[in-house]
Amino acid sequence: MKPGAPLDGLSFDTLAIHAGQPPEPVSGAVMTPIVLASTFAQESPGHHKGFEYSRSGNPTRNALEACLAAIEGGKHGFAFSSGLGASTTLFSTLKSGDHVLSGDDVYGGTFRLLDKVMKPLGIASSFVDMTDIDRVRAALRPETKMIWIETPTNPMLKIFDIAKIAEVARAAGAVLVVDNTFATPVLQQPLSLGASVVMHSTTKYINGHSDVVGGAVVTSDDAIGERVRFLQNAIGAIPAPFDCYMVLRGIKTLGLRVRQAGSSARTIAERLAEHPKVSKVHYPGLASHPGHAIASRQMSGYGAMISVEVKGGLAASRGFLEKLRIFSCAESLGGVESLAEHPAIMTHASVPPEARAALGISDELVRLSVGVEGTEDLWGDIAQALG
Ligand code: PLP
Repeated sequence: MKPGAPLDGLSFDTLAIHAGQPPEPVSGAVMTPIVLASTFAQESPGHHKGFEYSRSGNPTRNALEACLAAIEGGKHGFAFSSGLGASTTLFSTLKSGDHVLSGDDVYGGTFRLLDKVMKPLGIASSFVDMTDIDRVRAALRPETKMIWIETPTNPMLKIFDIAKIAEVARAAGAVLVVDNTFATPVLQQPLSLGASVVMHSTTKYINGHSDVVGGAVVTSDDAIGERVRFLQNAIGAIPAPFDCYMVLRGIKTLGLRVRQAGSSARTIAERLAEHPKVSKVHYPGLASHPGHAIASRQMSGYGAMISVEVKGGLAASRGFLEKLRIFSCAESLGGVESLAEHPAIMTHASVPPEARAALGISDELVRLSVGVEGTEDLWGDIAQALG
């Protein structure tokens, strides 16, 4: 794409490939160069080409940040060294005495960050099931400055109504942050539904190849953008230029990957729901899912994450995970390869057992991240492991 060509009105897949990535002006290289320099020469003190020191700004990171903003439909994009680096930076926009109202079924590391790091610093948090909007209203405190949600949630795949929660947040003067890691901007664009901020663990679908740990924040709010830009530099949880390049490269196929994985996941979820060894399937694409109607409204697909309860307790779920051959038993999600994990023992071990039980994270629960391998190969693997 020619430098300066307008991006307005272009589709998601075109933006994913071109936004922030014009050919490099000196050589014409069509791929964004990896600028490894930690510092940049100045013609005279304070006169430079827009870059001084790589923590404050780096050309490869700038390209990624422009692309992240474009694909989420936002004005300001920021890249971080991890999803939790992005979350830490966002929570640092708050001050002692403030309160974060969070969805009850958030990533275990987000819970740990709020409960074990932010709470001792004076930032309080509480966790509620936001499937009922009245519960959200009831849980607000005068000092609630941020509402934090994931939808679909991790690992129970509950669906929260972003537009309704955004309305409640606006009325309360709180910022709504949506962790869009599971849905991806291919399927759900929270800023267009009224959220103020979107964050991602780019480690997952955005990079998509399980070879980078990274995070992102996108907003269209200039004041929040300015504060996050300051904190990104002040806290310093920035990604290396090589990682920025890798994530940019991953984004180019984000649409293709998410659509393919989502199509397989739907088939797999439907078959799992009929399987005699399965007691329950949590997948928002199933008509029986309690959040199906909201998901159909606010998402353009249902994603590729499935949580499934295997009959027979821990022995059965452990046996299932051990027998899988194509799915790797591993934490994380959103890569081209399929993964399976046991939330109670693995990703959500940092959530206290009582809280896990209340959420439904039982010993029988297995979380599947469906990749882009052949659909029938994946189903064959699941069927043999269940059988
Ligand atoms: N948000 C969600 C939904 C996640 O699944 C994760 C990690 O698994 C994170 C945030 C944290 O991201 P990272 O591991 O990149 O720090």
